[in-house]
Amino acid sequence: MPKKSVYFFSKNQTDGNKDMKNLLGGKGANLAEMAAIGLPVPPGFTITTEVCTYFMANQRFPATLKKEVGDSIRKVERIMKLKFGDTNQPLLISVRSGARASMPGMMETVLNIGLTSKTCQGLIAKTGNPRFVYDAYRRLIQMYSDVVMEKAEGIEPAEGMGVRQQLEREMEKMKRERGIHSDTDLSAADLQQLIGIYQAKVKQVLGREFPDDAYQQLWGGIAAVFKSWNGRRAIAYRHIEGIPDEWGTATNVQTMVFGNMGETSATGVAFSRNPATGENKFYGEWLPNAQGEDVVAGIRTPNPLNESTKSEQNRHLPSLEKAMPAVYRELDAIRRKLERHYRDMQDIEFTIQEGKLWMLQCRVGKRTGTAALNMAMDMLQEKLINEQQAVLRVSPAQLDELLHPIVDPAAEQAAQSTGQLIAKGLPAGPGGACGQIVFSAAAAVEWSLNHRPVILVREETNPEDVEGMRAAVGILTARGGMTSHAALVARGWGKCCIVGAGELQVDAHARTITVRGITLREGDFITLNGTRGYIYSGKLAMKDASENPLFQGFMKIVDKHRRMGVRANADTPEDAAKARSFGAEGIGLFRTEHMFYGKGSDQPLFLLRRMILSKTLAERRQALNELYPHVKKAIKDTLEAMEGLPVTIRLLDPPLHEFVPLSEEKQRALADSLGISLDDVRKRGNELHESNPMMGHRGVRLGITYPEVTEMQVRAILESAAELLLAGKSSKPEIMVPVTCDVNELKNQKQLCLKVYQEVLAKTGVAAIPYLYGTMIEIPRAALTADKMAAESDFFSFGTNDLTQMGYGFSRDDIGGFMKDYLEKKILPADPFQTIDRDGIGQLIQIAIERGRRTKKNLKIGICGEHGGEPKSVEFCFQVGMTYVSCSPFRVPIARLAAAQAQIRQKQS
Ligand code: PEP
Ligand code: MG
Repeated sequence: MPKKSVYFFSKNQTDGNKDMKNLLGGKGANLAEMAAIGLPVPPGFTITTEVCTYFMANQRFPATLKKEVGDSIRKVERIMKLKFGDTNQPLLISVRSGARASMPGMMETVLNIGLTSKTCQGLIAKTGNPRFVYDAYRRLIQMYSDVVMEKAEGIEPAEGMGVRQQLEREMEKMKRERGIHSDTDLSAADLQQLIGIYQAKVKQVLGREFPDDAYQQLWGGIAAVFKSWNGRRAIAYRHIEGIPDEWGTATNVQTMVFGNMGETSATGVAFSRNPATGENKFYGEWLPNAQGEDVVAGIRTPNPLNESTKSEQNRHLPSLEKAMPAVYRELDAIRRKLERHYRDMQDIEFTIQEGKLWMLQCRVGKRTGTAALNMAMDMLQEKLINEQQAVLRVSPAQLDELLHPIVDPAAEQAAQSTGQLIAKGLPAGPGGACGQIVFSAAAAVEWSLNHRPVILVREETNPEDVEGMRAAVGILTARGGMTSHAALVARGWGKCCIVGAGELQVDAHARTITVRGITLREGDFITLNGTRGYIYSGKLAMKDASENPLFQGFMKIVDKHRRMGVRANADTPEDAAKARSFGAEGIGLFRTEHMFYGKGSDQPLFLLRRMILSKTLAERRQALNELYPHVKKAIKDTLEAMEGLPVTIRLLDPPLHEFVPLSEEKQRALADSLGISLDDVRKRGNELHESNPMMGHRGVRLGITYPEVTEMQVRAILESAAELLLAGKSSKPEIMVPVTCDVNELKNQKQLCLKVYQEVLAKTGVAAIPYLYGTMIEIPRAALTADKMAAESDFFSFGTNDLTQMGYGFSRDDIGGFMKDYLEKKILPADPFQTIDRDGIGQLIQIAIERGRRTKKNLKIGICGEHGGEPKSVEFCFQVGMTYVSCSPFRVPIARLAAAQAQIRQKQS
């Protein structure tokens, strides 16, 4: 054990400071800091987190702790001119937990330690207030017997039979007998009698006397706080929040101050600015004659802090500003001092004991996205922070909040308490949506034409659902993962979407969803929170997170501190325009196949199907010729929308069988146009069937087998570019070959490009078309042979959806079946399809970058898998030296922010 286990804080001596959170916990570090800058903090000391980890490992305290704690108590006694356990001048203390990261309400606290039969009498003589003293004593017995004597001992009582509940029932019984309703109506004599009843009950329930010795109470309290680190609640919370089990908690032992000593006493919580809006106004709540727990417990409606922040609910109650003007002025000065000192919004707790103000806690306050943005911009203007700090003040998740309509948090909280939360799935597309359930794409389209908002619910989606997905306000599937088709498409559109909600039994035929014994039918309303993956029955209120005018200004500063480029994945001129408006600096992935889904795709899809089912080269050529103008138009329109910016156009990627029609009507139309029978169409479709289509005839393999398919696409790209050049418009196409595993594939396709290039120059008369030729890196072998691949490429783009799929051997469409178990059992720390796995897939990326650039120093390198818009992955991309990331249009601002933050953090470290 290190020499020092206890850190003292008081007006005249403070051992710790705000930067010692790891050792002293957040609460301890900030108590020390406040004391050091001269704020009125009740003196006390912090026992370090190291003692906690020692205690956990050895089931006892380090040998030196007893002396250190004893010495510190004596220091407090000298300052307060009181004595712990003394009959005449008793000192009372609190023992509170406080870990590095805030874990609100997850660990234990014991107040009023030091009250015994002896000290009780002394305190009454001193205060002349027996009611107050007996009330404090009965609270101690309630809290201590529960936290120290029961929970910390590992006793697990039957439901409703915990000692605390049994004591509370005694108090209720007494109130009934006296015919009174409120605790505060119990007299001093009542409370004195109740204490006797409590002591007997504790003995009866727990088989031990309530300790009547101050030091015994103190050591019991300290041990209980440390043990609460491993309480069930705390462990569960840590797992959800990703807080390491090894950290341990600190324990703060501090002089008690009382907000319940009469009408000149009070307690409250406050924020140095409004945490919901960011408005620069002191904001908070207080209660006269009360203890801290009364404010948060919500038993009484708390009073407003000042006149200017009164609300409808508390308008009739007196503000602290009016009730205790001098104390309010002192508190307001402290608020200003704290903000200047910490340079951030503070969340504070205070108590007023007989007119004297005491500070019990301060910490950086939690805030909404709107508040985070407003505060960052205000504080920058106030010169409280610099630009870099302002950029770091808004988290990517908070920015996301600003870009989508959301479910009203208040409505959501209410719905959770009324059991409307019916299931959870993967949060695939952010924001909120509320609509009526439909079970088919056709119904989605039809209902939405009648102005009914719909949520499309499917077992899983396939390309034929796209139109319905477009029409719906939200999408919900029972199967699929974060990179499943539904997720990818929804995110691209900025649409609310939840996938892989495995609990739902979707019966599209009966048009019902069954979940947890509830049956929902077509037309019933449900509400989705796509940011969290929560599904609610019924209609919940939505909130329009309307765009703050400060948003644009903030993003300008973000871009000043960002070097890595940000592009968008977009496949239509509309999406391209949206991407531009969100600040995209090009398109990093134009998925050619998306022109065969959605609006206006009937004819091109029909022609594509004809091409796929062609048996002979002549048939295929004919279909390709007819398809050509459609492909060219889609490409040219997008190139034009992105004029002046690079557009990476990927050659056809998906396995062809995905496009084989399933409905008889469509099969018949194809048969007619090909002059073959319906049966023949089915046979040809069956021939395309593959056992493992994700690793089958897809990507570049199509271009190797059918060079004419590559030629048609390259021609469409280059002719579009040439025509735009002739019209005086700049265009920068980049031809990208997908699913490559060997340099020879790249050589083969390059030959086709060069041939078509010459043909286009000859046809259009343009002297040169500035285009790039490159490849996706999405197969591990391509990453490992990147030195060779680079020789034939102007650029690489990491397709991390497939790279993760093939690196792990996890099918990206089927992870819904097992990923939950992998995460719950901590086999994996996170879903690798959501955030890049730095250990494994990250290594493949690093190897590919290093080997690629060894061959070609200026190789352009980007990412276009879904990770390109996920903040932690964006940070990784910056760290490994990528030129740009590319993501769906709605995530472009988030990626811009994450890229700037990564850069600022790297400079700082
Ligand atoms: C990828 O694999 O990461 C990628 C961008 O391609 P797709 O998702 O279209 O397979
Ligand atoms: Mg791919």
